[in-house]
Amino acid sequence: MEKELFVYVDGKFQPKSEAKISVYDHGLLYGDGVFEGIRAYNGYVFKLKEHIERLYRSAGVILLDIPISRQEMIDAVVETLRRNNLRDSYIRLVVTRGVGDLGLDPRKCRKATIIVITDVIRLTDDDKKEKGMRALFVWVKRDSVDATSHEVKSLNYMNSILAKIEANNFGCDEAICLDRDGHVSEGVAENVFILKDGSIITPPTSTGTLIGITRDVVLKMAPKLGYTALEMDITPTDVFTADEAFFTGTAAEIVPIVEVNKRMIGDGKPGPVTKRLMQEFEKVIRDPKEGTPIYK
Ligand code: PMP
Repeated sequence: MEKELFVYVDGKFQPKSEAKISVYDHGLLYGDGVFEGIRAYNGYVFKLKEHIERLYRSAGVILLDIPISRQEMIDAVVETLRRNNLRDSYIRLVVTRGVGDLGLDPRKCRKATIIVITDVIRLTDDDKKEKGMRALFVWVKRDSVDATSHEVKSLNYMNSILAKIEANNFGCDEAICLDRDGHVSEGVAENVFILKDGSIITPPTSTGTLIGITRDVVLKMAPKLGYTALEMDITPTDVFTADEAFFTGTAAEIVPIVEVNKRMIGDGKPGPVTKRLMQEFEKVIRDPKEGTPIYK
């Protein structure tokens, strides 16, 4: 039998099948908390420091006090990976408001709950990477910047789940949400990029999109490959008429988009620039300088 993985819960390691938190935890009752999805490749946790920074930034916005330091959080992630003897992993780091009463007042929660799950899951399948995804603009608007905006990576993901349901119902691989003004925002857990006239363009944070860590990698990588990288509002028409389009995200990495609402993007096949970026990205994720070593 395979050895069971351990999950870190508040400083203790519990076997996966027994790892539990209280039903009074406000993360469960109200989606009150923040999280990160992180990956380890070949013994290095890719952009771990950046993920930890974003976690504490998200927590700061919702006034959630994380009871351990950034370095202790990094150590907790690395230690969990070591316990599980993992070199390649999908990591879910969750900090909830903690145990409170049935009222929503966060002041009732005395201490945040910290969870680190390190697992091996199948993410975007190779077929989608090779052939590209069919996406759908959905009726679900991205929560705006003065609401539960995805600028904060909170546990409140109903906005994305509603969008995903639409994509599923219409037989598409992924949903794309617009903002209240009709500008393109992002996918359910991915940022969106288009290529137009040699420029690689992604929507700004004002559309309620998360500042993705993969998005940042692509924005920095693109100029090195000779492309202009821009953060700019884009419309559905910009997407329909783009030369290429793709999603970015920790789980998705870079995935071509070949069709949106039945409109073919470019020639309906993954474009050359997207493929080039995918190749470069493969190098970046395997570069030890980009990550934190799990084993010394
Ligand atoms: N947008 C949302 C809403 C997400 O949940 C994610 C996944 N974290 C992304 C974009 C992509 O961000 P990253 O590249 O940091 O994974």
